Amino acid sequence: MRFSHKLLLSVVVFMSVSIGIILYLAITHEKRLIASIQQDNLRLVNSIIFDELYTSMRYGGGRRENRAIIKRLNEIEGIEEVRIIHGEPVERQFGVEEDETPRDELERIAVEEGREILEEFTENGTRKMRFIMPVFVRKECQRCHMAEIGEVNGAISLTVSLDKYDAMVSKAITKFIVTSLVLVGMVVVAAVAFIMHYNVRPIAELYKAVKIIGSGNLDYRIDIKDGMEINRLVEEFNNMAQRLKERTEELMELNRKLEALSITDGLTGLYNHRYFYKRLAEEIERAKRYDRRLSLIMADIDNFKLYNDTHGHQKGDVVLKGVAECIKNTIRMNDVPARYGGEEFAIILPETGKDTAVKVADRIRHEVERRSFPGEASQPGGVLTISLGVATFPDDGITVDELVKRADEALYMAKRNGRNRVEVV
Ligand code: GH3
Ligand code: MG
Ligand code: MG
Repeated sequence: MRFSHKLLLSVVVFMSVSIGIILYLAITHEKRLIASIQQDNLRLVNSIIFDELYTSMRYGGGRRENRAIIKRLNEIEGIEEVRIIHGEPVERQFGVEEDETPRDELERIAVEEGREILEEFTENGTRKMRFIMPVFVRKECQRCHMAEIGEVNGAISLTVSLDKYDAMVSKAITKFIVTSLVLVGMVVVAAVAFIMHYNVRPIAELYKAVKIIGSGNLDYRIDIKDGMEINRLVEEFNNMAQRLKERTEELMELNRKLEALSITDGLTGLYNHRYFYKRLAEEIERAKRYDRRLSLIMADIDNFKLYNDTHGHQKGDVVLKGVAECIKNTIRMNDVPARYGGEEFAIILPETGKDTAVKVADRIRHEVERRSFPGEASQPGGVLTISLGVATFPDDGITVDELVKRADEALYMAKRNGRNRVEVV
């Protein structure tokens, strides 16, 4: 799972859970509030019923009138049942009426202990609430009732259906939930959009940039200007990418230099012995593949020991550099001049036959002879010279070793035949 998805998911889960808790608390609270309003209503209705009965009794009304009032009240819609329960003083004085004695335990508690009873129950699938209110003997009652003040004369039991209330409550709650969900949905969409724009998108951009730069494109940069604190990260990232690019270029430059150094002879600037062998092998392969010729010149300074002995090694080094210059100035771009060892040189001439190679070798010989070296008068013949041998692929050999060996043999032949000359095998 991607970081951006995790972030979004956690926001959505967090918001949903919080909203769920808020909804639950709000609904519970509302239900409780409605229940307490219902109870107050019942208590009020009970008091009104009592007042009606009381008023009737004060004006001489008796049991018959009371029964008529109760019958009328029972016809009111929403009232399930109203009934009068006689207490002990009434039964004592006026006799027991079967339908007005306590019908169950709760009614008995109400009339015997003078306690208010509130009960919620379900009957035939309908939720109902019953409120039993004890009626205490007052001074005015003693005009007809032979009972002590404070005794429980009886109780009024009122039962109502809660169906209508429940329908109203559930309607209100549904409305509340729908409104809340719409609001929450809007907030979540806004939050997701915000997070996408200010966090996820910049992070995705960063991720993309890391991949692109990681794959070697060091010129890639991120262009985000509205990502808030992510801006700083992006800025730092771009700086880092810039530094990385600069360092990489430095390293590449250094690498190029090192590579050049690793194949160059330090004194003469020609290629070194190792590179000579590598290139010779490659050039022979190429010549084989394309059926071309290739020549190799081996050169050696004449009587160089004598020169060194006479003028010292430092002067000898100057001669080595001079000879290297003569070689470089004489050959073509594609030729490969190398210092083979001490005072010996090797030149690879790709695409070159023996005749041309001999001509090139002789030009080099002539260049060295012509050039003036300090103190060369002490050399035999009064000039510093070199001898050269030439071998050609495939006529003289078809492997590196064969070719070097034959060119060497030709070089020694040149030495034997009097030096300052070119020989072929
Ligand atoms: P030949 O004509 O037969 O080649 O005679 P030579 O004296 O040149 O032959 P030899 O191989 O006996 O001597 C080579 C000399 O080259 C020996 C050494 O003093 C000198 N030499 C080799 N490498 C260097 C170098 O790097 N610098 C200097 N100054 N001299 C070197
Ligand atoms: Mg030598
Ligand atoms: Mg020599």
